[in-house]
Amino acid sequence: MTGRPALILHGGAGARRERDYTLEIAHMGEVVAAMKARLDAGASALDVAVEATVLLEDSGLYVAGRGASPNLAGAYELDASLMDGATRKAGAVAALQGFRNPVVAARAVMDRTPHVMLAGEGAALFALDQGLERIADETAWYTRAGQGEDNHPPGTLAHGTVGCCVLDRDGRLAAATSTAGVFGKMPGRVGDTPIIGAGCWADQRAAVSCTGLGEYFMRVNAAADVSARIAYANVSLESSAAAVIEDVRQLGGYGGLIAVDAAGNLS
Ligand code: ASP
Repeated sequence: MTGRPALILHGGAGARRERDYTLEIAHMGEVVAAMKARLDAGASALDVAVEATVLLEDSGLYVAGRGASPNLAGAYELDASLMDGATRKAGAVAALQGFRNPVVAARAVMDRTPHVMLAGEGAALFALDQGLERIADETAWYTRAGQGEDNHPPGTLAHGTVGCCVLDRDGRLAAATSTAGVFGKMPGRVGDTPIIGAGCWADQRAAVSCTGLGEYFMRVNAAADVSARIAYANVSLESSAAAVIEDVRQLGGYGGLIAVDAAGNLS
């Protein structure tokens, strides 16, 4: 028996009110249409979450993948993760340098290692060994290279992330999240995005992808808490997600999350 699939995307909580997001919104519409076709054809939630995230990474429109911003030392250290709700398998890379699609590296960690996360040089060596696509020339590849922070001046919300949550027609849930983290981050800084439970989560109840100031999302274990509240407090996806964001806010942080539950409700 098959059900109706559902999908939700985000392009980061770093949006600025005065900026024109026409391109991003049109791009997301294209991604949704392409992924709807994949889901209707029977693709798995995990495959679709990864494919959508690759399209978001490659667009250069968000602070992830091609649109990444460098850290304080000028290096591009990217984070990504994914989780398959049906199997509770997960994969992640942190502070990965030199590869086109961090979410593909995260998938390879899940599929081809006994680990959940690889970081830094070890992650890059693994990605190389797996034959994942490298970035030949960072200045030519990254859309923000050489721009400094001119499109995110100090004092504005200076970060962004991408994410995708999917319910497939067989009832499986999956989530993926990818980011360059926060502008002006210290070398080696890792936020919530590659931390399973904080920036990304999927189980049999819900798939969740977070964005915002990662330090706060880690401290409330945000993504996993959305599902835990549904299980323990028997609340709706919507009120669970709102309660988690309120927890982030009470600590002094801010951000957002997207989620889908097993019934196809979106939040
Ligand atoms: N959560 C990400 C991080 O802290 C940034 C973002 O979502 O904008 O790395």
